[in-house]
Parts: sequence; C-alpha cells; structure tokens
Amino acid sequence: MFLEIKNLTKKYKDIEAIRNISFSIREKEIVCILGPSGCGKTTILQSIGGFIEIDSGEIILDDKNIENIGPEERETATVFQSYGLFPHKTVIENIIYGLKFRKYKKKDALLEGKRMLEVLNLKGYEDKRVTKLSGGEQQRVALGRALIVKPKLLLLDEPFSNLDTKLRITMREELLRIRDVFNITMIFVTHDQEDAFSIADRIILMNKGRIEQIDTPRNIYLNPKTEFSLNFLGSANMGNGLFVRPESIKISKDGEEAIVVKKKFKGSYMEYVIEYKDKEYRMTRLNNEEEFHIGDKVYIEMKERKI
Ligand code: ADP
Ligand code: MG
Repeated sequence: MFLEIKNLTKKYKDIEAIRNISFSIREKEIVCILGPSGCGKTTILQSIGGFIEIDSGEIILDDKNIENIGPEERETATVFQSYGLFPHKTVIENIIYGLKFRKYKKKDALLEGKRMLEVLNLKGYEDKRVTKLSGGEQQRVALGRALIVKPKLLLLDEPFSNLDTKLRITMREELLRIRDVFNITMIFVTHDQEDAFSIADRIILMNKGRIEQIDTPRNIYLNPKTEFSLNFLGSANMGNGLFVRPESIKISKDGEEAIVVKKKFKGSYMEYVIEYKDKEYRMTRLNNEEEFHIGDKVYIEMKERKI
C-alpha cells in the first residue's frame, strides 16, 4: 500500500485524542476522514504531516517509515483550515515559498509558480496581495503552495469550511481535477458528509478517537456497520437493531395503511412523519411526486434492514 498507518496513538495529558488507528491508502486515492468535532481527525492529519509527536505507531509512506523524521522531509504537504497564507506576501510569493528550501533559483521558482497559477486558473493574479482575494481564490493559492513542492501525499484539514455552499461545490470539483492533473494521493479531513460523498473514494468514519467504519461512501450509507455510522451519514428510522432510510419507504397501492401526521417542505423534497402500526416513521418524497396532507391515508411498502 502507498500509505500505511499502524496503531497510531496520541494522548494530550490524560485526553486520548486517537487510539490504535490503523488504515492504508492506495496511490491516487482520495480518502476522507469524517467525524464530529473533537473525534481526532486533525490529530491524525498532524501526525502524518509531522506537526505533532505521536506516542506510538508507525507511518509508512511509499515503503519508508516517516514517523520519526521532520515534516519538511516527509514528502507530504498540508493545506490548513485557515489556509496559513502569508498576508504581507503576494500570490506568487506565497505559491513559490516552499521552493526556497529546495535550492531553486529565483528565476526557475517564478517559472514554476506561473505554471501553477495557470493550472489553478489564477493567471494574472501573481502580484495581488492574498488579503485582497476572495475565500475561494485564497483556497486555490493555498493548494498551489502545497502542490508546488510535488508532495507524494496532500493533506487537507477542513479546507472548505470557510466557503459558502456554492463555492464548496465548485472547489470539490476542482479538487478532483487537481487529483488527475497532479496524480496525487489525498487525505481530506471534514465533518461534512456532503464533502465526503462528493469526493471520497473511501471514507474513514471516526468517533471518539477510534475508527467506526472504513468503506466506500455507498457502502457506509447502504450497509452501516454500527448505529453511529447509520446516524452520522444521512438519517434513519430505527429500533430493535433494524433500520429504514426515510427515502426507502415507498408508496404503493398494494402496500399497508399508514397515516400522515406531520409534513415539512424541504426544498427539493417533502419530509413526512407517518404513523404505521403505532410507530412513527420519517418518510421523504421528491417534490415532483404527489403531495400528501396531514390526516391522509397512504399505502406504504418498506423493508427494514439489520445494522
Ligand atoms: P477534530 O479535528 O476531529 O475536531 P482533534 O484531533 O483536534 O479533533 O482533537 C481530538 C481531541 O484531542 C479533542 O478532545 C481535543 O480537545 C484534544 N486536543 C487536540 N489538540 C489538543 C492539544 N494541543 N492539547 C490538548 N488537547 C488537545
Ligand atoms: Mg479538526
């Protein structure tokens, strides 16, 4: 495997931030570390990037143990949540910063930097101050600065958390394009399931410093291994170890009777609460389908599944 993480553990005094974390990643894969705030995502990323000292474990990148070497020797690059750009420097100076330490002549560095600006659709921005840029543009500069050193592994810590919804969608596409242009492997930390669904080849779902499930987005959603997985990705009706997703309750003439007790407009879909066999279930229907009203009798089919 391209990256292997073995039994990573890190404590801050008596807080166990992560415990016995193991996973591996293939070359060119985009893996999302997903989980609620405080579950240990940043700690994993910083352990791999070399910004914190781990208590125990192994980190093997391209067949080389890197857990004991400095961050600048690791062939990883990190894009931080707050971008960490130099506010007093221009766009091009920010982008080529990492080349200073790699014995590049200024002229060659500038050439590389200009090439990077083109790839990132920032042509013409070289002499602008980064503080004058929009959030999305700053994000591109941060990506350029990380990519210019040609890392083997790109680490991204909640890179889209400061962007509005529209821009997030654009930047997700952009990241997939960058993966193909640079042939790069990425670990992407997020608490946002939409980020994970949109870009991840696989998701590492975390809970309280431990891995809950590792799988493709599709498998985690359709075959959650635990109650935590079931509830973190999407929502579900559940009880007695059985669950049904709200969109999996179907309306059918041959179905069984239920009563609509609540309804809510959600934009592209409606969310209903229906009562069926003395139990309430959430059910969703797209807004191009027939609308129901409170008190309506509906006929439903559903298959409850085991977690
Ligand atoms: P996430 O990125 O998923 O929000 P973190 O990896 O930042 O989670 O934090 C995991 C746990 O470790 C949290 O309980 C957090 O409070 C704790 N923690 C993180 N960094 C430090 C630190 N420098 N000192 C003490 N505790 C920390
Ligand atoms: Mg974090």
